[in-house]
Amino acid sequence: MSVSVLEIERLNKSFQTPKSTVNALSGIDLKVQEGEFITVIGPSGCGKSTLLKIVAGLDLAYEGSVKLSDKEVTGPGIDKGFIFQEPRLFPWLTVEKNIAADLSLRNPDIRKRVDSLIELVRLQGFENAYPRELSGGMAQRVAIARALLRSPKVLLLDEPFGALDAFTRAHMQEVLLDIWQHNKTTMIFVTHDIDEAVFLANRIVILKPRPGSIRSIVPVTLPYPRKKATTSFQSLRLKVLSEFERIEDTEWVDRAGL
Ligand code: ADP
Ligand code: MG
Repeated sequence: MSVSVLEIERLNKSFQTPKSTVNALSGIDLKVQEGEFITVIGPSGCGKSTLLKIVAGLDLAYEGSVKLSDKEVTGPGIDKGFIFQEPRLFPWLTVEKNIAADLSLRNPDIRKRVDSLIELVRLQGFENAYPRELSGGMAQRVAIARALLRSPKVLLLDEPFGALDAFTRAHMQEVLLDIWQHNKTTMIFVTHDIDEAVFLANRIVILKPRPGSIRSIVPVTLPYPRKKATTSFQSLRLKVLSEFERIEDTEWVDRAGL
């Protein structure tokens, strides 16, 4: 039987602004299985980052329940790796020291694990380079390796490849799938790119805005490695796209007051 690593139940989140209350998330229910690759997709402002921050324990002001391995999330921690759109490295540290961060490379176990992560994220030869010497894609791989060294129960990625050019982005998607297949880390990956969502996921969670809620969940059973040019890939892509069109229809109805 599969095991839920993350359980979100009846999650509501609102922001109080001086002028009004923003209903950012409403009635979110989601169970994520151990080792699953979830992508979360939806229009800008539909609550994707808010959802990820809540799972990360970076925002505790919500209603409902968020459990990681059966324990309520009470704050941030190394069991929840977080990758932002920009890599957030320490500019004064080399690649390997950025990955080790507060852990000592003189510890033989840490040394060994850092070396194998450097290989996994394909950065051999750059161990002693500084962040300013890296491309955007390489820097993002350092950030991913740093999170993985902490063996997180879940890796949360908020549009991590959004700032990269199309070729680098495609390469990074392949590297990330390699990592996932090797480490079996549970992934929750936010994107607004439909191709990326279909290419990576076991399940695609489609959010709709105002208030942010789950429009539908699309399972993707295509075998890996996936090819974006195949008919089966394209028909799934269309399926996701048609969900978005349904969102827009609903909004039109809302606007017309029907
Ligand atoms: P997404 O990541 O899908 O673009 P966000 O999660 O960033 O969306 O935002 C969801 C909604 O919540 C938006 O309407 C946004 O304006 C609002 N919001 C997010 N953060 C704050 C905040 N700190 N204060 C007030 N409103 C916020
Ligand atoms: Mg966002």
